[in-house]
Amino acid sequence: MIVMKFGGSSLKDSESIRNVAQIIKPKLSLQPVIVASALGKTTRNLLNSSLAASMQNQTDSQNIYETVKVYHFNIAEELGLLKTNVQFKKDLSAYFSEIESNLQKIQSDKNLSPKLQDATLSYGELLSTLILSAYLEVIGINTKLLDARDCIITDEHFTHSTPLESESFGKIERYLRPVINEDKVAIIQGFIGSTQSGDTTTLGFEGSDFSAVLIGVALKADEVQIWKDVPGVMSADPAKIPKAIPVENMTYAEAAELSRCGAQVLHPSTIRPASDLNIPVKIFNSRQPDFRGTTIDNQMTEMSNSIKSVTCRKNLIILQISAKQSLSEFDFSAQVFVILRDLEISPEIIEGSDKKIILILNKSEFKEEFINQITQWADVDIEESKATISLIGHMIRTKQSVLNKIQKYKISQSMQFDVDKTSEHSYTILLNESDIDRTLKKMHYDLFETMT
Ligand code: ASP
Ligand code: MG
Repeated sequence: MIVMKFGGSSLKDSESIRNVAQIIKPKLSLQPVIVASALGKTTRNLLNSSLAASMQNQTDSQNIYETVKVYHFNIAEELGLLKTNVQFKKDLSAYFSEIESNLQKIQSDKNLSPKLQDATLSYGELLSTLILSAYLEVIGINTKLLDARDCIITDEHFTHSTPLESESFGKIERYLRPVINEDKVAIIQGFIGSTQSGDTTTLGFEGSDFSAVLIGVALKADEVQIWKDVPGVMSADPAKIPKAIPVENMTYAEAAELSRCGAQVLHPSTIRPASDLNIPVKIFNSRQPDFRGTTIDNQMTEMSNSIKSVTCRKNLIILQISAKQSLSEFDFSAQVFVILRDLEISPEIIEGSDKKIILILNKSEFKEEFINQITQWADVDIEESKATISLIGHMIRTKQSVLNKIQKYKISQSMQFDVDKTSEHSYTILLNESDIDRTLKKMHYDLFETMT
């Protein structure tokens, strides 16, 4: 069996939903389980409507809500689902009443609690799967609509919860296997789950990819297909580098590095579970379904260019933390890590030497409280508006010819090479944010566009 996950951009209007159905149809003999994201930008809209409600901005909240409602009803209408299917229409309306009462609750609380945020955002996926499954039925595909909250069990970190894998795996198997055995196409929501005590949670950015991989691993699927609106993993972000090219093959380790180093192509946690069971993850383009896409597995292929992709992170802050004289080396690092843990700050990069620790973190992770606490033990130097560029490729840090090439990009004194030594498969340069665009363009040109 296989898992097919469709993202919001592949399900953004009635035409793209029809297209997705045509992608699923020829795969029926492979016993697909379908995982879906919310339609188009629904998650974002539900969040904006909730935020407006929490700020007592009822007009905005109501307008956004109405837009989401009309959008879903229009799509359902265009797919021919409203005329004949009475139960479907009832279910659709019921979901919208529930969203509305959540928004009223947020408004009267004058606050958007993480728990209520998750409960409200979950309707994006509940609605999309309701529509997709009803449409697949109409075109003659036998489906079974499931609720991810019955099998994806997570911790209680609302808005960015982590699935409890062993707990979820058993439930997924027990819940989905009978449906597959009956030769029905199971349709299930990505992104959402439930705590042990039954509260709805969400898995954070691109969480649906993570859901799809977990389901694939639990069911020991032959492969997990992630359908997006890009041709696969690219050699760079095509929004910045229009000449970016699709990557045909990556190892799990390369893909994990790529997402750790800033590429937003996959949820960072998706790769490890797939790699544990060696289940291939394939990224396909729903607008070009016959294109080969990107395969992520553990096979090495002959590639003349060992660099797969260049990626960057922006909005970084560097904290150089130097121990005060009186502190032992051990106490010093222990203090730094304890404070990081207590304040739930996760740096992108940590570099350490005996009396100095360098933390590179996204501005959104920065908390003044960290400085207040750490200055009891250490002196801190802060630099802002920093960025990194990382090159990703198998064993790239051991390839001298590549490294020699990279050194010539030193266009400013402040640029530092090889700032992150955690993986052999990535090589990271730290630079000023203002230098990033031209450096990235030049690197991509030399490394990918002049190759024959
Ligand atoms: N719908 C959610 C989002 O937009 C989850 C996902 O698409 O993966 O982030
Ligand atoms: Mg999405």
